[in-house]
Amino acid sequence: MFRTLKPFEYLEPKSLEEATGALSKCGTEAKVYAAGVDLVPRMRKRIIAPKCIVNLQRIDEMDDVIASNKDGARIGALASLRSIELSALIKERYFVLHEAIASIASIQVKTQGTAVGNLCVATPASDVAPALFVLDAKIKAVGPSGERLIPIDEFYLGVGKTVLGPNEIITEILLPKAPANTGGGFAKLVRTVSDIAKVNAAAELTMEKGVCKEVRIAVGSVAPTVLRMKKAEDVLRGNKIDQNLIEKAASAAADAVKPITDIRSTAEYRKDTTKVLVKRVLEKALERTKA
Ligand SMILES: Cc1cc2nc3c(=O)[nH]c(=O)nc-3n(C[C@H](O)[C@H](O)[C@H](O)COP(=O)(O)OP(=O)(O)OC[C@H]3O[C@@H](n4cnc5c(N)ncnc54)[C@H](O)[C@@H]3O)c2cc1C
Repeated sequence: MFRTLKPFEYLEPKSLEEATGALSKCGTEAKVYAAGVDLVPRMRKRIIAPKCIVNLQRIDEMDDVIASNKDGARIGALASLRSIELSALIKERYFVLHEAIASIASIQVKTQGTAVGNLCVATPASDVAPALFVLDAKIKAVGPSGERLIPIDEFYLGVGKTVLGPNEIITEILLPKAPANTGGGFAKLVRTVSDIAKVNAAAELTMEKGVCKEVRIAVGSVAPTVLRMKKAEDVLRGNKIDQNLIEKAASAAADAVKPITDIRSTAEYRKDTTKVLVKRVLEKALERTKA
């Protein structure tokens, strides 16, 4: 049920220094606001009742720019999901992220919500996170003692929990340059088109003369956090890929997941469909290495 918001202090800092200073002062009672798509409904449902809201939109150093750089590309923390989905750069060089965001049905949510906000909610059903896992993304966070780079597969601690300190702000997502002959794929299973994932999966594959040079696979909604499927990757890396090997890797992924039964699905169904989705994303990724 939605109710009126509990009173809170509202701040619009103009610099990161001011913002991290305000967050340090308020401690765990404060919340950062990017677009509010997740934050505001939680406040209205009284799931959270922060005493202080720090809006990021007017901070000089924060932006929504999606651009290539010498190492690959960067996505400013204020970039909306929709602008990332529509970016020609992301579509051409990081197709798996485009495909993951395109799977989110609500244009309204994507037009307003940011990818960084999506990551920080830390739901294992995020569609953005598995794509960033397989792209080997890094998250740049700024706090009172400076900035740090967090590899995406070290970002999550559990449902709703990340390694971010209460006074840290993410400023950008960094994507490394992909080698030649790399392709990626994303897939998800949903109850209805607008629902969040029962299970989702992403893969990124680099091939050299028919041999798998590098591979990353990630699966969501099958554990408290999105998981890298390292045993499944080991099945493929260094080997010639054929249908038999893809089946073996998909089985290894299904063996590695620890899903629960909840309102969206049963644990058994999630385990079985992990195999199906991993097979599907590997086939798509392999096909796209030839493009
Ligand atoms: C109807 C609906 C359908 C949805 N469907 C999907 C779906 O199919 N797949 C999917 O993956 N997601 C889905 N979502 C989730 C959606 O993508 C996120 O809620 C949204 O992207 C949050 O972004 P935001 O910018 O509004 O974040 P906010 O609501 O402003 O913030 C969310 C959290 O992130 C923190 N935060 C935000 N930015 C920063 C920052 N720069 N530094 C540090 N902390 C920060 C905030 O403090 C807060 O804890 C859906 C949401 C809704 C409401």
